[in-house]
Amino acid sequence: MTMKHYDKHFNIALDGPSGAGKSTIAKALAKNLGIIYLDTGAMYRGLAYVAVKRGLDVTDEEQIKPLLKDLDMRIITGDVQQIIVNGENVTPYIREHYVSKAASDISALPSVRIKLVELQREIAKKDSVVLDGRDIGTYVLPDAEYKFYVTATPEERAKRRFLQLSEKGTDVPPYEKVLADIAERDYNDSHRSFAPLKQAEDAVLLDTTNMSIDEVVNFVLNILERK
Ligand code: C5P
Repeated sequence: MTMKHYDKHFNIALDGPSGAGKSTIAKALAKNLGIIYLDTGAMYRGLAYVAVKRGLDVTDEEQIKPLLKDLDMRIITGDVQQIIVNGENVTPYIREHYVSKAASDISALPSVRIKLVELQREIAKKDSVVLDGRDIGTYVLPDAEYKFYVTATPEERAKRRFLQLSEKGTDVPPYEKVLADIAERDYNDSHRSFAPLKQAEDAVLLDTTNMSIDEVVNFVLNILERK
């Protein structure tokens, strides 16, 4: 499908809870439209990984602030997005299970969000980007041309995450633990006071519980084409 806005600058915001399929959908959309994909969760993960490695408490803003002051975060977009924090390519470590929890905690700190949102806005201003996250349509880019809220039941999302972890084979927690962690992250993400996870009023709701990735991508492309 060719995009009628192809030569214009536009952004697509894809928000929703963990494991809803956002990143797979965003990657497919970016490829199809020939634009950049920015995984904003990877930015929170990258920061969380470095904080934990330094022995910092990711819930304590005073401990994290000095890290933000000296932060040099570079994102190399592409098929597999690379994230470089203070010169170290942290990409191989940021999907570890413990980093998911730490990312959820660190992302609740207002100073962390302010810093990373600044970077996200810079990238989205320069190029046409599909961004996936929690607050893209509500806070990062409230004027994004297209907004979608991607979700699925917690059980379906836990199943997907469990299969993903099993495929990688290392450190696979039982399904019940994955489900409990998803519920905890949902709660954290939607109850934090600063830019919580919620559907933007003008976002299109996509419940992917019973949809394949191809179905969702085609559905979105059709909406983009019609708008
Ligand atoms: O999307 P992903 O699971 O990789 O994100 C990791 C964590 O980063 C999430 O649990 C969420 O708390 C946080 N996050 C966020 N805002 C974003 C993207 C991710 O708070 N835009």
